[in-house]
Amino acid sequence: MAKYTGAVCRLCRREGLKLFLKGDRCYTDKCGFSRRGYAPGQHGQGRKKVSNYGLQLREKQKSKRIYGLLEKQFRKYYDKADRKKGITGENLLVLLETRLDNVVYKLGYGQSRTEARQLVTHGHFKVNGRKVNIPSFKVSVNDTISVKDGSKSSEKFKTFAENPKTLPTWLEGNIENFEGRVIREPMREEIDVPVNETLIVELYSK
Ligand code: SF4
Repeated sequence: MAKYTGAVCRLCRREGLKLFLKGDRCYTDKCGFSRRGYAPGQHGQGRKKVSNYGLQLREKQKSKRIYGLLEKQFRKYYDKADRKKGITGENLLVLLETRLDNVVYKLGYGQSRTEARQLVTHGHFKVNGRKVNIPSFKVSVNDTISVKDGSKSSEKFKTFAENPKTLPTWLEGNIENFEGRVIREPMREEIDVPVNETLIVELYSK
């Protein structure tokens, strides 16, 4: 499973907004973007006129970075979204949002998608009672996501249970019981990523 291993805060600075990739640190004054809110590199502080292509590229890069994907993986999602019925941009976001690592994050496990992904990879979760350690696994409507019995008593999972997150309306569950369920696929307005998916479609349809 390939993943980005470079400097993380640099990605937020490049996109010009906080992507919350580092969990707790993102909410402190140690946040790289709060300290240096300009693009990295020699010309980062210069004024730039951004072309239409530049805008499209930035939206695509931002989406990849939010969900922690590399180009090839992201492109596969786009191709799949394009083959599905409906609006391609929205299909793309739904596919990304229903990855197991994202669902686990939304259910309240992990301070960031990166941490949630690591928890999945380390085999802490089951889908419909079967262990799944593939972050890209696509969850479907009515799937139940639960924490493996052996992990429930760990300090980390106890901490998650003591600090429940507000669930999006397409998920239900109770973190204290270490279980959640997908009620339905998310609608666009329920996906809270700051992305203009239309620009991504324009970029890839050239
Ligand atoms: Fe982005 Fe978080 Fe780093 Fe701030 S601390 S720049 S929000 S990854």
